[in-house]
Order: sequence, then structure tokens, then C-alpha cells
Amino acid sequence: MSKILVSGGTGYIGSHTVVELQNAGFEVAIIDSLANSQIDVIDHIEQITGKRPEFYQFDLKERHDTRAVLKELDNIDAVIHFAAYKSVGESVANPFKYYRNNLQSLMNMIDGMNRNHVRHMVLSSSCTVYGQPDVLPVTEQSPVKPADSPYGSTKQISEQIIQDAIRSGLDMNAIALRYFNPIGAHESAKIGELPVGEPNNLVPYITQSVAGVRGQLKVFGNDYNTPDGTPIRDYIHVVDLAKAHVVAIKRLLEGKNKANYEVFNLGTGTGNSVLEVIKTFESATGQNVNYAVTDRRAGDIEKVWADTTLANTELGWKAEKSLADALRSAWNWEKNYRNI
Ligand code: UDP
Repeated sequence: MSKILVSGGTGYIGSHTVVELQNAGFEVAIIDSLANSQIDVIDHIEQITGKRPEFYQFDLKERHDTRAVLKELDNIDAVIHFAAYKSVGESVANPFKYYRNNLQSLMNMIDGMNRNHVRHMVLSSSCTVYGQPDVLPVTEQSPVKPADSPYGSTKQISEQIIQDAIRSGLDMNAIALRYFNPIGAHESAKIGELPVGEPNNLVPYITQSVAGVRGQLKVFGNDYNTPDGTPIRDYIHVVDLAKAHVVAIKRLLEGKNKANYEVFNLGTGTGNSVLEVIKTFESATGQNVNYAVTDRRAGDIEKVWADTTLANTELGWKAEKSLADALRSAWNWEKNYRNI
């Protein structure tokens, strides 16, 4: 049985991926600083899968801790590296925090892997690397645009760090997965998205607003060049996304990768506007969303959705769940978390 080390494994996408890895028969060890997640996620993972992942709480910025844990875990076959700060707004206000954390942690992880002969890594990347694309849908060949935020920069630089590490001669295979907009929660409603403080993202804002934890949802602008004037994104169910990580890990472990470094877009291939998300949420859950259109949010791009051909053909992976499934699961998670 192969063993996978998941950094950031108690976070939103990390925890869903741990569940899918365990369901697929992998052993899992998690590293997380708990800077942005809760320890009881481990209990919830165990409730879902019947298996308790190993857990190490420390900060990957600490190089010696990283080396020591990787040494202690001397039977790791591959790493999935999620651990990173992810708030766009906070990264603009505090760029060094983002560069220091997101880049140092990755370099320490690669260093620890190299010293302990772990050769395979799946990296969590983002469609933010494309900025506002000139051509839609976005393929992996679309140009990487200058990032709008230090957060976005750290994703671009993280991809570059891995490529440079490989070019320097490190014996390493890596797959970078560029996520579009992950939403939703596990069908058990035991794990889901739990932003610290006021949510920045659309779907947690909707569910918290409907739950009465937040006020009215602000729709940031309806004067974009889109059919209903609101921006378009490719919203992908987090469980579909998690399953893609299992496929990527198997590809590496089975030696099916075609290069030392590969990149895949992970989306549904369909774009939906903010108003479509609200309407779909209402019809999927029977709840009303209280919203008002306000000014645009600085830095928002107009429209982006994925060309998923490469992931479909090369990974043999395809998003299976609908937008309504994802929104219903997000609401079920919110209700369960708030005891509604
Ligand atoms: N959005 C909104 N109100 C909110 C949060 C987001 O209208 O409270 C819009 C935002 O302008 C964007 C879309 O929802 O068009 C998705 O935003 P999110 O922050 O979830 O993802 P990202 O902008 O990073 O793609």
C-alpha cells in the first residue's frame, strides 16, 4: 500500500483529497500548521473513511522540522503539497507573509523530499496564473500573465521553483494542477469549506448569508461584458477536484507521466455567472439569497473557464458533479456545521 504525505491536509481541498486517497486504498500522513484549519477535521475524516490519517502539526517554514518529519516518515511514496496561504486580499496587504510562507514551505518540502528520496509531487496551483485570458476556454498552453496579487505570484513562482529544481538535476517528477473555482463539500457534510472570518469567496458567502451569519450578499458589479453582466467562473465540485489528485498520484507512481513536469487544468469546462450561481443555489436548496448589486471588486477578472481536454484525455479524469450538486452540498455542510 503506497503512503502519501499531504501537506495542508486539514484544509478545504486537502481534507477532501485525504478522504479520496483513503477510499482509493492509500495510507495518508498529514502535515498541517493548523494556521487556517481545525484539528477536529481529522476526526471527521476518520468518521467518513473509518481510517485515521497520521497527523503532524508543524510549520513547513521550519526547515529542520520538515527534514526531521520526512525522515521519520521514511516510507513516503509521494507528496501532495497544498499547504499555502490563500487569501488574495490579505496577500495584497501583507505580501511578505505570502512570499515567506508559500515559497519557503515549498522549498523546504522539496529539500526534505530530496534528502529522503521521495520523488513524486503533486502541486496545488491555480487558474489565477492565466489572469484574464485573451482566448476562452483556457488551455494549459495559454500564456501565464503577470499576477494580480502576491498570492497569484506565489502560485506562478511555485510552479517555477519545481521546474527549476528538476532542471538543476533533482530526481523528481511533478504534476501541477491548476484549479478553477472549487466549491461544495463532501456528501456526508462532515467536512467542507470553513473560511476564517468574513468569506471572500462567493459560495461560502452565500451559504453564510443564508444561514444568517452574514448580511446581504454583495454582487460585485453587473456591468461586465457577459450575458447578464456578472463575471463568469468555472465552478468545480471539490470532490471531483479531490479525485483528480488521486489520478495524478497514480499517474506518477505508475510512471505514466510523459515528462518530469506536467500541468493540467482542473475545471468543468463550463462557465457560470454570479447570478446563475445564485439562481441555481435557490432552485437546488429552496432557499432565497438576499443580494444586491454593488460596485465591482478591484482586481476581479471578467470571465474564465477551463479547456479540460488534456485532463480528460491524459488523466482520464472528468468532473462528474453539477453546479446544483455542488451548491446543495455546500448548503448541507453549512447547515450541519451551524446545527440548522
Ligand atoms: N463575488 C461576489 N460577491 C462576493 C464574493 C464574490 O459577487 O461576496 C463574485 C466575484 O466578483 C467573482 C465571483 O463571485 O466574480 C467569484 O468570486 P470568488 O472570490 O469566489 O473567486 P475568484 O474571484 O477568485 O475567481
